[in-house]
Amino acid sequence: MSILVYTESENGKFKKAALEVVSYAKAIADQMGTSVTAVAVNADNADSLGNYGASKVLSVKNDGLGKFNAKKYAAILEQAAKQEDAKVVVVSSSADSKYLAPLLAVELDAGYVSNVVEAPSSTSPFTVKRTAFTNKAFANTEITTDVKVVGLSNNSFGVIESGGSASVEDFSPSIPESGVSVESIDKATDKVSIADAEIVVSGGRGLKGPENWGMVEELAEVLGAATACSKPVSDLGWRPHSEHVGQTGKPVASNLYIAIGISGAIQHLAGINASKVKVVINTDAEAPFFKAADYGVVGDAFEVVPKLTEKLKAF
Ligand code: FAD
Repeated sequence: MSILVYTESENGKFKKAALEVVSYAKAIADQMGTSVTAVAVNADNADSLGNYGASKVLSVKNDGLGKFNAKKYAAILEQAAKQEDAKVVVVSSSADSKYLAPLLAVELDAGYVSNVVEAPSSTSPFTVKRTAFTNKAFANTEITTDVKVVGLSNNSFGVIESGGSASVEDFSPSIPESGVSVESIDKATDKVSIADAEIVVSGGRGLKGPENWGMVEELAEVLGAATACSKPVSDLGWRPHSEHVGQTGKPVASNLYIAIGISGAIQHLAGINASKVKVVINTDAEAPFFKAADYGVVGDAFEVVPKLTEKLKAF
């Protein structure tokens, strides 16, 4: 019996979320007195997962799996879970994982809980803490099925290096032909991705136009942050759609979220509420964001942001 983990990678490199799910699975494995087996698809350095708690890595190398395909990936995990007699399968809360996890749960006859934020308080009964009501509340949820699928919220548990080592085994499951492939349209850049970012600097319509985004990018660069934006900003074409965050955009679960010139509409907050510390910069003291924020500056972004960047550069 082991705990199985799906480790996401891009261009052969493990994503930060992959290291976090392995760290999380190790915490569960320690509680249950078992070990962690990771599944890696077309990833380089599969053995590096040992440093985060995996004992074994099932390495799938297949050129036909270049683009994410939920049905194919769910089939790989199902076969790995059965081979390893896994009672718990851990995935991240990325869009890809949220797509494949329900399919996998059906095939394994498992209960699936997403947006989990902590290691289980108990593994018998198996109870996990998850966010609910667009991150406004927490729920302790017991998974009663024999096999359990857990979706860990990104940036909730953290990456923990354990200094261990993992054996790597080639794994060649049978892969179904059908299924819809998903191709990322994000351009390859050196920038931090929103999903992996510990800090996100986000701009709204208060920035008046795309020509003013230089100060957002400069602040993000100083902080090593990803840049994001509100929905109207991407709808207006000021920023690419890949930066749109909120209920209908990408979810953000960063350690720090800085909102510049964003009013704090409920649909925006729904997607960023999981961030640990929220800071707002807005000229209007009545803007709803101030109620959701941990820190707020009532002021003109065009004055505040350059000064903030200057101060941070001096550190
Ligand atoms: P505005 O509401 O126009 O706010 C601009 C803010 O900037 C104001 O608070 C203003 O005081 C401030 N400001 C102006 N000048 C300055 C300055 N110089 N310095 C500092 N502050 C300044 N929105 C999302 O963001 N994400 C979503 O996923 C999303 N999904 C939606 C889904 C549905 C079904 C619907 C109906 C709406 C959705 N929206 C979403 C839109 C949402 O309701 C808001 O309209 C949107 O979030 C507002 O964007 P904003 O805050 O950038 O702009």
